[in-house]
Amino acid sequence: MASESSLTCEALLHAASVKIGGESPRLDAELLLSHVTGLSRTRFRAWPEQSIPADQAEAFEALVRERQSGRPVAHLLGHQEFWSLPLKVSASTLIPRPDTECLVEAALALPLPEDARVVDLGTGTGAIALALASERPGWQITASDAVAAAVDLARENARDLELSVTVVESTWFSGLQPQRFDLIVSNPPYIPEQDEHLALGDVRYEPASALVSGPDGLDDLKMIVEQAPDWLVEGGWLLVEHGYDQAESVAALFRERGFSSIRGMQDYGGRDRLTLGQWLAS
Ligand code: GLN
Repeated sequence: MASESSLTCEALLHAASVKIGGESPRLDAELLLSHVTGLSRTRFRAWPEQSIPADQAEAFEALVRERQSGRPVAHLLGHQEFWSLPLKVSASTLIPRPDTECLVEAALALPLPEDARVVDLGTGTGAIALALASERPGWQITASDAVAAAVDLARENARDLELSVTVVESTWFSGLQPQRFDLIVSNPPYIPEQDEHLALGDVRYEPASALVSGPDGLDDLKMIVEQAPDWLVEGGWLLVEHGYDQAESVAALFRERGFSSIRGMQDYGGRDRLTLGQWLAS
């Protein structure tokens, strides 16, 4: 039998939360302890006095030290939940954010056919495409990414979750077979090059290719909005995520390109985070 340490799970969690600090220290500590022990977070609350075997306590403390040095919890666990789907993550992609679930909700609310053709540009882990596939099995969903390691990861996630998404290596539209979609979605990089936000938190461990887009953060959004009409059916939709202070600029891009029914939407924190537009060519 493994030797029991004198430490209870509550004592370990308390000490770890103090060390970790930041935005969600208790949650981070619970996720790491759950990972090491195989026990659920509910169990920690129901049974705070449970003692943790010494080897597990040591493994936990090693993870806490890594977290303290700034490594994202998702990288330490190797996965991140998005839309209740357990997604594998790696250092090659953005870690899916809860706010991006608002984009999934907005996409599901659109009046689309049962067999809608949909593409997720810059899919990373596959998060958006897989969430949509889990809700709309009839949709024909393509996901693209410019980074080969992201393409592999998204394919692996699709396989593990048994969801049908076609993942292709492509920089935005350039590598796609000519076709027209009912819906184009994207959470592209949109942080300005010099943004101080890039020196803080998890983004330090994520690839710049998934985060940064030119001096004002709009280079990739401009490219997507410019090219999207050539890939949309009449009446098709473009839905993108962007920075909370970019809503006006993005709406202007949609307007200048000739989109109709342009609408901004907010994330869970009430920040302007999404822009939607419809392509009515005639
Ligand atoms: N919302 C993310 C952040 O601010 C960035 C995501 C992105 O660039 N697409 O950390």
